[in-house]
Amino acid sequence: MILVSACLIGLSCRYDGKSNSDIRLLDKLKGTNILPVCPEQLGGLTTPRPAADIYYGNGIDVLNGQARVLTIDGQDVTEAFKQGAEQTVFLANTLGVKQCFLKARSPSCGITAQIGVTAAKLLLEGFEIEEVG
Ligand code: SF4
Repeated sequence: MILVSACLIGLSCRYDGKSNSDIRLLDKLKGTNILPVCPEQLGGLTTPRPAADIYYGNGIDVLNGQARVLTIDGQDVTEAFKQGAEQTVFLANTLGVKQCFLKARSPSCGITAQIGVTAAKLLLEGFEIEEVG
């Protein structure tokens, strides 16, 4: 089972109601069992929703209670992001996920520029992650 950020396979779950469909990833995943997840939706946030970012640290710091996730209009959505990360890891463990493809540059799914909240939780749980986009 492969976990994939749902926006990468064409689901319109982004904050602005659009997707980040990645044709090369879709080709690669053809014929495999995939688990599409949008951690922000799993955390209870609506689509569309105000864009959000991590302040005072990164995704690991959010999990440790040392950083917050705030929307562009100042709403604190930290708990929703943490809930989305927990739900994603729950599904990954329950369904025996072996590999994850996560969307780059997201406060939930990103890794390199700044590790997102869900990416951090998956990494801490020992899942293998590849960043896309
Ligand atoms: S990057 Fe992650 S949280 Fe953002 S829309 Fe895609 S799946 Fe959802």
